Amino acid sequence: MADMHGGFSASVNAMYDQAVALMDLSPGLAQKIRVCNATYTVRFGVRLRGAIHTFTGYRSVHSEHMEPVKGGIRYSLAVHQDEVEALAALMTYKCALVETPFGGSKGGLCIDPREWEPHELEQITRRFAYELIKRDMINPAQNVPAPDMGTGEREMAWISDQYQRMNTTDINGRACVTGKPPHAGGIAGRVEATGRGVQYALQEFFRHPDDIAKAGLSGTLDGKRVVVQGLGNVGWHAAQFLSTEDGCKIIAVIERDGAVQSDDGLDVEALRAHIQSTGGVKDFPGATYEADGSKLLEAECDILIPAALEGTIHEGNAARVQAPLIIEAANGPVTAEANAILLEKGTVIIPDLYANAGGVTVSYFEWVKNLSHIRFGRMQRRAEEARHHVLVNELERLSKNRDVAWTLSDDFKKNYLRGAGELELVRSGLDDTMRGAYQSMREVWHDRDDVHDLRTAGFIVAISRIAATYQAKGL
Ligand code: NAD
Repeated sequence: MADMHGGFSASVNAMYDQAVALMDLSPGLAQKIRVCNATYTVRFGVRLRGAIHTFTGYRSVHSEHMEPVKGGIRYSLAVHQDEVEALAALMTYKCALVETPFGGSKGGLCIDPREWEPHELEQITRRFAYELIKRDMINPAQNVPAPDMGTGEREMAWISDQYQRMNTTDINGRACVTGKPPHAGGIAGRVEATGRGVQYALQEFFRHPDDIAKAGLSGTLDGKRVVVQGLGNVGWHAAQFLSTEDGCKIIAVIERDGAVQSDDGLDVEALRAHIQSTGGVKDFPGATYEADGSKLLEAECDILIPAALEGTIHEGNAARVQAPLIIEAANGPVTAEANAILLEKGTVIIPDLYANAGGVTVSYFEWVKNLSHIRFGRMQRRAEEARHHVLVNELERLSKNRDVAWTLSDDFKKNYLRGAGELELVRSGLDDTMRGAYQSMREVWHDRDDVHDLRTAGFIVAISRIAATYQAKGL
């Protein structure tokens, strides 16, 4: 991996600047949108294992043109200020691109979560949350975190509970964080959302023959050979859906301890279980193991999905990356230098600010659900079913009076009569969002002669919307 210290923000800003250069934006406004508004650093001690341990955490607010601001909390030893600020900036652009009404934020804690027992992690998380809550850096109206690398439903439930303990009369307390478990105010489909969004993004890409041709590919997703880096929350769901629902073949998976490959396609579910029981991909039956996993980023394949962390495709390896289509499931996996090399080669990149926006989209639905205090579909589902019943009954009645009687198949009736529950509504909203955002990027990509890639197009769409918000405020 390239050394990204001090470089990740520079990389995001370079991509931002490239887009701004093609826009009619005053230099003052361009600078205002670009800068990170504030970063709070906190150091706190927790007594664990008979000693006091000091932890360092960050919460960065990139843009407050809309509030609350939104962005995940990452647990990793590599967390540092520049990384958190770059990720917060990406959140601003991402939210604008997929039209979720939030500004951009991000948080991080310097910790290796695998080194601590669950009860210790709970103490550390609650203390970190306490530090942020008392400064309104976690608040349903101002700043709403979510999961990211190293965190998940469990941590979000602790944060939510901590906020509610400290704000006992806030009726909207649960909306202070998203990505909670379903029994603690979460929403169906949030855990899978980012990976599901990657799948929907690829499905939308493959609906446009011109775009497929630009990548030098043809046909549909069926049979496409895919390499995935990082089989965590995002990578695992993306790989699982693409292989079981779209006919893709996952020919290699790159993890921390190396990579495994199989030309016949890996069973990702079995591989995930293997990682969970052994801690890595090594010795996975029926696959070839490669200790230097990052080599597989350069493997011959149709689609490369970096879904681990930033900076894995850099100046040093970009020229050797053979995939004609890269979808950035992780944030910032391709550095600005690598981006230029890949574009020169004709690689099509579906950029992070769009590709992994499924998470924040479903987080938006969860936040709305928490504020409305009712599950999606609760009021409509049975009414919808009753209306469908009226239609089916009438059709069947009419058919009886005809010479040739016909009936509706049981299968059709089962599918048609069933009203949409929360999961179906969430998936429908996510699919609609991913299609719409792709089309808005694509329009700029195809209509403007000076825009040669989806990333620049995505930035232009996002920046235009943010600029319009600032201008409406009179700035
Ligand atoms: P995760 O912690 O669940 O998974 C990360 C995976 O990557 C793990 O399996 C880990 O072992 C692996 N990994 C770590 N370092 C690696 C390396 N050097 N080489 C290969 N594999 C490595 O995290 P996640 O939530 O899936 O997030 C992954 C990426 O997606 C991050 O960039 C994150 O910012 C981004 N993202 C996550 C969400 C979300 O909803 N969780 C939303 C948007 C974007």
